[in-house]
Amino acid sequence: MTASESPRPVGLSKSRIMAGLQCHKLLWWMVQEPAAPELQPDELAQAVMDRGTRVGELARSYVPGGVMIDLPYNAYAERLARTRQALEDGAPAVYEASFRAGGIFVAVDILKRDDRGFRLIEVKSSTSVRDHHIPDVAVQAYVLRQNGLDLVGAEVMHLNRDCAYPDLSNLFVRSDVTEAVSAIEQSVSGWVARQSEMLQGLIPDVPIGPHCTAPYECPFMARCWPTLPPHHVSTLYAMRRRALELDEQGYQTIHDLPEDMPLGRIADRQRRAVKEGRTIVEPALAGALEVFVPPITFLDFETVGLAIPVWEGCHPYDAVPVQFSCHVQAADGGVTHHDWLAEGPADPRPALAARLIRACESARTVVAYNAGFERACIEQMAEALPILATPLRSIVARLVDLLPVVRNHVYHPDFGGSFGLKSVLPALVPDLRYDNLTIADGVTASFELERLLVNGDEIDPAARARIRSDLLRYCHQDTWGLVKLLERLRELVKAAS
Ligand code: SF4
Repeated sequence: MTASESPRPVGLSKSRIMAGLQCHKLLWWMVQEPAAPELQPDELAQAVMDRGTRVGELARSYVPGGVMIDLPYNAYAERLARTRQALEDGAPAVYEASFRAGGIFVAVDILKRDDRGFRLIEVKSSTSVRDHHIPDVAVQAYVLRQNGLDLVGAEVMHLNRDCAYPDLSNLFVRSDVTEAVSAIEQSVSGWVARQSEMLQGLIPDVPIGPHCTAPYECPFMARCWPTLPPHHVSTLYAMRRRALELDEQGYQTIHDLPEDMPLGRIADRQRRAVKEGRTIVEPALAGALEVFVPPITFLDFETVGLAIPVWEGCHPYDAVPVQFSCHVQAADGGVTHHDWLAEGPADPRPALAARLIRACESARTVVAYNAGFERACIEQMAEALPILATPLRSIVARLVDLLPVVRNHVYHPDFGGSFGLKSVLPALVPDLRYDNLTIADGVTASFELERLLVNGDEIDPAARARIRSDLLRYCHQDTWGLVKLLERLRELVKAAS
């Protein structure tokens, strides 16, 4: 925008004020470029929003008897009128109660009447009250008071990790935040004044910083953050804070770091690999590989973390395994593959556990990458399925983690400071690529699995078959990748001897 163009005047909503509290530049772009591609939710962001909507809908049933202001969000005048009417009629609660004051529009998740006045209830799909929830509620409280409402309390109603299906009577916790909200409520008018003034001007100059990722990752990172050169000091393994200091001292990349500058053990190996442009292999790798005794099963799970549990004993956001892939390598090197993917909304664990036990029964060693995750999944199934607990725990007893073996003994310059499988595999086993897969990361896999299992009926059969095939290919790639990774590590030992 040029200086001669003046921005159009705008109203503020609660979400815009919250964005402005994170960063004025972010708010400026939200208001001046509402059609910016960065602001259009992708499928994952939409799924998160849909989850919030489902949690919000369910939360209302825990504060029953209310009147729903069931109108499109932007039907502002009608929403205000319908809310006023519901309050005049003495409704015990109003859901999506809408108010406006000083140019700010808010829709309160649940406004509950009690003996002394009203309680504002903000529903969150998190499992605790977070710092940024307080200003969010304060904005609503401010608008309600400006409307003359007798607000006697404010609460955040969030999910309860102690709740276990099927008893959902304690699915939500209502945390009183009245005091914290009161402490900052008088600041709201100042926030709004500063944001409104800022929005009347040209794009504000805001430096990048920690606010770019907290409380939410800003969608405009690509506009503001510079493209870093390869091997920037920020890629140093586990030295994030030190990297900032090094950057300030003028060291831009790992190539610039003097040999005698003390670094952590792994970061030091990284520096050697980057400077020498080769893979560093520690002599102790040979010994570390001795525990991988054949026959070996290479194992990987995919999980879903449902906000609202639907399977026996599960809590909100428990990571429940719903898919696995196993490559089984015999002593003679021959490899067979086993996999399983849940179908439909029934509890997947009994069938998955039975198939997993069979796939692992011949193995002396069960290999996973970052095995703590697989261990936790199997332990959780052992708890849920006592009849299978012994063979499941026998898998845990044979479990060996390949990640620390790589992290403690090998560094390839292309790891980029990460030992995640998606960083390690392309560097050490370049034939194995993830960029040709439709599903190429765990977050997308989890989202697709949840969609498939919980809302599978709403997906047409051809699309469902395609998603299943994509998921099976992705999980297969992870365990085939482990087979090839172990093979590659053994080659590195041979080459070094
Ligand atoms: S990337 Fe950072 S500085 Fe840029 S708009 Fe977002 S929060 Fe503001």
